[in-house]
Parts: sequence; structure tokens; C-alpha cells
Amino acid sequence: MALTIFNTMTRRKEVFVPLEEGKASLYCCGLTVYNYAHVGNLRTYVFEDILRRVLRFNGYAVLHVQNVTDVGHMTSDGDAGEDKMQKASERESKSPWEIARFYEEAAVRDYKRLNIEIPEVMPRATEHIVEMIEIIERLEKRGYTYTTPEAVYFDTAKFPDYGKMAQLRLESQRTERDDVILDETKRNPSDFVLWFLNKPTHLMQWSSPWGAGYPGWHIECSAMSMKYLGETFDIHCGGVDHIPVHHTNEIAQSECATGHLFVRYWMHGEFLLMGGGKMSKSKLLEMKEEERPPSTLQELIDRGYDPLAYRYLCLQAHYRSEQNFTVESLEAASTGLRKIYATDPSRDTLADDAEAYAVARQRVLDAMNDDLAMPQVVGILNSYGSYRLWIEFDAVLGLDIALRTQRAEEVLPTSVQNLIEARNAARAAKNWSESDALRVGLIELGYDVADSPQGTTVKRRLL
Ligand code: AMP
Ligand code: ZN
Repeated sequence: MALTIFNTMTRRKEVFVPLEEGKASLYCCGLTVYNYAHVGNLRTYVFEDILRRVLRFNGYAVLHVQNVTDVGHMTSDGDAGEDKMQKASERESKSPWEIARFYEEAAVRDYKRLNIEIPEVMPRATEHIVEMIEIIERLEKRGYTYTTPEAVYFDTAKFPDYGKMAQLRLESQRTERDDVILDETKRNPSDFVLWFLNKPTHLMQWSSPWGAGYPGWHIECSAMSMKYLGETFDIHCGGVDHIPVHHTNEIAQSECATGHLFVRYWMHGEFLLMGGGKMSKSKLLEMKEEERPPSTLQELIDRGYDPLAYRYLCLQAHYRSEQNFTVESLEAASTGLRKIYATDPSRDTLADDAEAYAVARQRVLDAMNDDLAMPQVVGILNSYGSYRLWIEFDAVLGLDIALRTQRAEEVLPTSVQNLIEARNAARAAKNWSESDALRVGLIELGYDVADSPQGTTVKRRLL
């Protein structure tokens, strides 16, 4: 089955046909680095990592760009409120630059612990101001902007297709927006800021043809995606919250600046929920310390969970379905993962039957290529319990299966084998004190010891 993906723009599953044969260009909206990523954000990045791995499994050379938002994202997704970076800088009494680098490093650490492959390019917004200004200038020349004392705005009335993607999804989004009328001189409620002006208290400022200021959030992603992937590229991802404002605005300004299609396939990950609602940083910050559930990867680790158990949990819901996050569900995922790690390679009957293996492999591949149906993929893999099949698809799952099971496969050192033989002999001779002493010897060497009718068996303890 050819790879099909759900395109938010058409609201249909479509066969993925890249712009350039054998290559896939992918842009994902990156984290706003004003706090630790919560596991909701990380769910979206796991989804995007799975997409990247599925593309590669299908033979595409993937060029994946994921930006770092270190300026311009307001506390609303529109133009209202405060800049999230500036707010964090006041909260922590550090410069916004320090805040940005600190949380960017923390995010990369989390990605690595979750086996999220680091994208080929991770551009920072603050290092692409020139490219943003260039796009705004193009828009200005083509008559899509107007300038007020507050900002340079994009005039949405000039783009008849404005809101095409969001309207497909939810008609009411445009009227529900909270970023309307920041400025009396704004012409239409949906017009959005390209460049903020006259904000003397804002700590991050750059000069521009319109005066000192800083960029709007949306222009950042247009500038960074088109710089590294070209003016039209294959896939753009993000969470569903980005459909009505951020991605709608990215489309408007990119297509008006270049005059052609911006993105060929739009893919959006659904929310991770907490207590029935969307998990969000603002909601977590409002909660009292003692009421706050574990919500960062470090907090899960501190409670004794393997980060890959969280990754496995993410695989159990389809990326287009909401997923409830509870400690119980994480617990179940941990147990499930341990079961996978206990798969016995020496009892893999499927691996020895080429025909049956090919059938099984095709079943998994078809599920994976059907818009990344990972819950089915995991279900099929669990039903076969074949080590070889798990290992082959771990290229997509990213659960470190070979690494974690390999210890069980290890050939035992001679010293250990000698102790086992001596213990079997002692037990045959009913010499229990000798047998116990040899057991302690094996444990001290780092092995768990079990007795079976066939004699002593050992397994190296995982560190
Ligand atoms: P932000 O740092 O707010 O720009 O968000 C980073 C990414 O996380 C975006 O793609 C958001 O859509 C996504 N995101 C935010 N909250 C959640 C959530 N509760 N569940 C899944 N993804 C989320
Ligand atoms: Zn973006």
C-alpha cells in the first residue's frame, strides 16, 4: 500500500506524492522556549517523529526542519497579550536570550530521551529576522500590508482564500478569536501583525524599514520554512490548535508573498488531554504545586517511568484522536513495554517461515501507511510477538527494542557457565548449602537466578 496521509486542507486521506521524487520536505512548528515542554507538546513531537520515520521507511530522503520560537509568540495565539518570552524573562529575572537557550537545551534533552530524532535543521527565529523582513517587504510591494502606529499588519481582506483551511474544519473559529482589535486602526478583525512597532518595553528589538520592533509569530514560520525547504514544500505539521490562526496566517502571508502554493499536505496532531481539557502551560502554571499532575518528561522520570514508556503510550492513540493522559495509562504502557522487551528471540517461529513473515510484515506496513495507524501497528506486532518483526518496525517505533533485549541474548561468560554447572551438580547431589552459595555467587555477578526442571537459568539484571 502506498503511503496515504490525511491532509487537513482537503480533509481527505491522500496518497503522498512528493514534489521531488524520492525526497520529502517536512516543516514542523517548533516549541516556544519559555518553559519546559509538557508531555502534550511532546505528544505532537512524537507524532512528527513517527511521520519522519514512516517517510524514511518508505524510502524517502527526509529533510525535516523544526524551528525554535524564541520571540514573538504572544500569550494568545494571535497578537494580544504579552510576548511569552518577555513574560518568562520577567518571571525568572533572566534575559529572554538566557531563557530561550536554557529551555531550548531542555527540549533537545527531552527529544533525545524520547528517541525523537533531531531534525536536520533547527533554526531559531531570532537568527532569521532578515528573512522575515524580506517577506514583509515583498508583501508590502504587492499591496497586502498597511502600517499603523502599533504594527505592520497583513490585510486579510486582500486574500480571498483567507481562512480556507480553518473554515473547512470549524466555521466559527474566525469569530471566536481572542486576538481581535488590539489596535483601533486595525481594518479587519482577522488582520494580523507582521511586525510590532512602538513597544519600548519589549526587550528583544531589531531595526526594520518600518522602525524598531519585533516580528509577529506567524511570519517566523513562513520565513524559516521557505528558506530551508523552498517556496513550495511537501508537508507542514503542528498541533490542531494551529489550524485557525497560526497556519491560516502562514498560508496567507506566504502565498501572497510568492504568488504560489505554500504547502502541499497539512497534517495536524490532536491534543493530549489532562483532566478532560487540553494540557497547556498556562493551565499548569495556574495550578497549585500540590495539585499539578506530573507533566514534564523529567517529572515522569522522577516518578520512576522510562521515557520510552511515554513514547509507547503515544503510539497507542491515533495522532488524529485526542488522548487522555493519566498515571494509570502510563503505568499500563510501562507494563506493555516491558512485555515487548521480554520477547524471546529464540522462540521466534515467524522468523523462520519466510512466507508467513512476508504476510505479517505486509499487514504491519499497510496499517502504518494508512495515515500512520500506529495503534493498529502495535496491535498487530503484539499479536505476532515476533522478535524479528518488532526489530524491523522499531525503525519506526523507536522503542530501542534491540538494545533493551540484547542483554538477554548475550552468550554467558565461562565463569558464569561454570557456576551454573556446579550449581546443577550440587542440586542433583541435594547439597543445598553448596547450591545456595553458588546462587549468591551468580547474584553477585549481576544475574537473576531461577530454577526450572531443566536446571538453573540466569538472566542478567538490567541496570
Ligand atoms: P507551543 O510551544 O505552544 O508553540 O507548542 C508547541 C507544539 O505543541 C505545537 O505544535 C502545539 O500545537 C503543540 N501542543 C500544545 N499543547 C498540546 C497538547 N495539549 N497536546 C498536543 N500538542 C500540543
Ligand atoms: Zn509555526
